[in-house]
Amino acid sequence: MSDPSKGFSTLAVHAGEPHRKAHGAITTPISCTATYVFDDTAEMRDHFEGRIEREEYGRYGNPTVRVAERKIAAIGGGEECAIFSSGMAAITTTLLAMLRSGQHVILTSDCYRRTRQFITGVLSRFGVDSTIVAPDDYDALAAAIRPKETRLVISESPTNPYLRCLDLERVGAITAKHPAVKLLIDATFATPVNQRPLEQGADLVFHSCTKYLAGHNDMLGGAVVGPEPLVSALRDFRGVLGGILDAHSAYLLIRGLKTLELRVTRQNQTALQVAEALEAHPKIARVYYPGLASHPDHEVAVRHMSGFGGVVSFLVEGDLDRTSRFVDGCQLPVIGPSLGGVESLIEQPALMSFYELTTEQREAIGIKDNLVRLSVGVEDAADLIADLEQALDQV
Ligand code: PLP
Repeated sequence: MSDPSKGFSTLAVHAGEPHRKAHGAITTPISCTATYVFDDTAEMRDHFEGRIEREEYGRYGNPTVRVAERKIAAIGGGEECAIFSSGMAAITTTLLAMLRSGQHVILTSDCYRRTRQFITGVLSRFGVDSTIVAPDDYDALAAAIRPKETRLVISESPTNPYLRCLDLERVGAITAKHPAVKLLIDATFATPVNQRPLEQGADLVFHSCTKYLAGHNDMLGGAVVGPEPLVSALRDFRGVLGGILDAHSAYLLIRGLKTLELRVTRQNQTALQVAEALEAHPKIARVYYPGLASHPDHEVAVRHMSGFGGVVSFLVEGDLDRTSRFVDGCQLPVIGPSLGGVESLIEQPALMSFYELTTEQREAIGIKDNLVRLSVGVEDAADLIADLEQALDQV
């Protein structure tokens, strides 16, 4: 089922599922197999000559993974989806498939650090050049396009950790002037519940399924959603690079997708309440949340998003150590990387994702020592707010 007349959660529960499963089971079976056998040579030839659709070898596809792919395509409003073993496997496989030596990529400065690292540190070794622009500098983006060389513009929206929201229609209008340039949006923070980048000008959308899509901090996976020919070509390339998701993780992803809208709606509400409470607190210097009028992209977020997401970033009044004491004082959010799960997670980016840099190096890329990123889970908002307040009382 990928019926556009159906609501989000109806699709999330039912899309992509075979009507009748083995033994009448209601859940999708975990197809734990590396190879798929043929009855005879005639069936094998039917498969290779495209007369029947079936699996052949585990690196090329898996029925449990296929159900998750159809579900994500349906809820993401794309023709097709290909799933990978992690968000980074989705991104690296896509970039390797789409770029050649001598070509050029534009990315935004607040883009996921490992994506930036892959483009500037790995693709550069294969002759791919790149330009980094600020997420709100649309003139710089337009000026950076080299008509003969630029092939991709890639950004997150919202970005990490400052939750900058790109005006996707504006960026899409810029890239649309250059038919060879594709716009790739990592919408991990937004999820298909809050934002529809394919309807706003993006050519392909990435999700780290590890985060909200699976939603329980218990698997890693990545997805690419977009037009059928492009995504099918990426799936074929996945068969070469090998970043396939295992069937058990695909099952966890399918289960998570069924409650995606419920969880994200709740996380949107809680995060807004948390952001408002923090903004009013005297020991908080600044809150970054697109749902607040104080956020630089509030107006863009209101236009482009139906919810503002479950991540709130903020500056504690004070230095690195005082901020660590606040983080350590929290009882409900646990300290850890990642985001988007049912458990609230808190981290000080200076000591987590950017731990190997000095304060000066972090300042240069905008990561302040007193910055905290909170990924709101599905706990009760009042409990979370009370917990953050008691931790602030201690510093
Ligand atoms: N994109 C974003 C926005 C992320 O936050 C992450 C991981 O934190 C990734 C991509 C990579 O996803 P994964 O950890 O599943 O490889």
